[in-house]
Amino acid sequence: MIIVKETIRTIIKDTIAQTNLTTAYRAPLVGVASAFDPRFAELKEIVDPTHLLPTDLLPDARSVVAFFLPFSRAVAEINRRHPYVAREWAVAYVETNQLIRDICANITSHFGDQGVHVAYEQPTHNFDAEKLVSFWSHKHVARICGLGQFGLHHMLITKSGCLGRLGSLALNTPIDHPDPPAPQLCLVRQGKNCSHCVRSCPTGALTASGLDRQLCYKRLLEVNDHYGIIGLCDVCGKCTTGPCAVID
Ligand code: SF4
Ligand code: SF4
Repeated sequence: MIIVKETIRTIIKDTIAQTNLTTAYRAPLVGVASAFDPRFAELKEIVDPTHLLPTDLLPDARSVVAFFLPFSRAVAEINRRHPYVAREWAVAYVETNQLIRDICANITSHFGDQGVHVAYEQPTHNFDAEKLVSFWSHKHVARICGLGQFGLHHMLITKSGCLGRLGSLALNTPIDHPDPPAPQLCLVRQGKNCSHCVRSCPTGALTASGLDRQLCYKRLLEVNDHYGIIGLCDVCGKCTTGPCAVID
């Protein structure tokens, strides 16, 4: 599986290099888990009873691979300083959604040529429009694949930070060694002072005790109305501009 991970890392880098993007990225992260890891079934309780299993994506799935595309520090800075939501941030979201689709298509094509079955969910908008919960939550899947742990802001904090986008795929390739759980890098979860994310939330949707999904999504739709000309950009991300945004 080490070879598979390295191959996927290479495909990600090649896809980025071959795509005309304004967004800059740092080095991608890749993690892997067994498709039979019991934590996937637990997502039916943690996320929603409708959450899919790897074998729902791919009936003969044996492994799950998640990847993280960390944005450059400049993307974090520009959204942190902007009084509203930076246009560059919205562009990064739109561009990266398409990039993730292209990466997943290239991975599927590469392994398909070798007889390996691959399946994946879309990078976003694979959720219940009323409950606002995903049928396949990339961030929960990425946690199982050892890429990070959840911070106070309900986002995954990887060893490169939380500022970036996630994708994940199911393969019928067996694995020898799943990645171990990632360390907890949220300062508050470590018992230290921070809460930058809560203070940065312009709507009050994010508090120390939870996230009001409906209030947050209302803000995302407002931003989409503001910048919609560049594509579907229901984003905000003010809660991802603190000390856990970019970790080197
Ligand atoms: S901003 Fe601070 S409290 Fe919030 S998730 Fe990041 S490290 Fe944790
Ligand atoms: S995305 Fe924006 S509105 Fe939603 S929790 Fe984060 S800061 Fe608050």
